[in-house]
Amino acid sequence: MALGKSIKMYLTIFVATTCIYMVLYQYHISRQPITSPELLKPPPLYIITPTYRRPEQLAELTRLGYTLKHITNLLWLVIEDANQTSPLVQHTLNRIGVPYIYLIAPMPEKYKKNKKALPRGVSNRNRGLEWLRQNATEGVFYFADDDNTYDISIFEEMRYTKKVSMWPVGLVTKFGVSSPIIRNGTISGYYDGWIGGRKYPVDMAGFAVSVKFLHERPTAQMPFKPGYEEDGFLKSLSPLNVTEIELLASNCTEILTWHTQTKKNENAAPLNMTKYRDTNLVSIHKLLVRK
Ligand code: UDP
Ligand code: MN
Repeated sequence: MALGKSIKMYLTIFVATTCIYMVLYQYHISRQPITSPELLKPPPLYIITPTYRRPEQLAELTRLGYTLKHITNLLWLVIEDANQTSPLVQHTLNRIGVPYIYLIAPMPEKYKKNKKALPRGVSNRNRGLEWLRQNATEGVFYFADDDNTYDISIFEEMRYTKKVSMWPVGLVTKFGVSSPIIRNGTISGYYDGWIGGRKYPVDMAGFAVSVKFLHERPTAQMPFKPGYEEDGFLKSLSPLNVTEIELLASNCTEILTWHTQTKKNENAAPLNMTKYRDTNLVSIHKLLVRK
């Protein structure tokens, strides 16, 4: 009898405690703000990277790719100056694991004649603009060459660009840096070792543009004019008032991107197949640019 009573008592306590916990839990849930993942997403970033086959290519893409891997809501548009896509590039991009689109855009033959001054990466970047016009509606795009160095904080800063944003780029010309000159908080000119009559003497790594703004400038594109690619593209975004250019990197007082140039490496010597036919060197050699 006494045993039955205490079981009943414990059961009552158990049920009552469970009920109290359930009520408290419901209350806790109801207090949580309604969050949809879509609402939390920052504006997308489109990184347009021209690339081409050479001994350094896979190394450069690997280095840049792992930098970009730190950034959320980013799509990497890798555009190769080639007549066909390369399984090696494809494999490298898959291994890195950054969301990407891989396209080709060969340099037109007529521009290849002047060996000294090629319009490097221009057909690639214009292909990138074409892709954006067809596929993107919001966010910001940036031309990131495969051989430069980028601090990841510049990507978060450029993400909110309304029209065009600019910032300094290190390792450009004998001045060591290319930058807008800021006086009283506004652009009063440009500091660059080569002005060359340009309205915008800036480096490719030193500006970003909003996708909406690009849509408002349907004819904007990059000219096949060595040395004047940035200037020509920025001029094609006109009308653009100098006061509308947003200044990043703490009002252009920091260097967060560098025009690093990699040492040119020689193509690899041919492999002696008689000697190494049955070894790993055959596989490795397929990855190299050979003589
Ligand atoms: N590039 C290209 N085709 C070429 C030469 C260069 O697509 O024939 C790409 C290259 O991968 C890089 C960009 O264009 O992303 C700029 O080229 P490079 O770094 O050689 O020029 P620099 O920075 O020295 O002006
Ligand atoms: Mn370069």
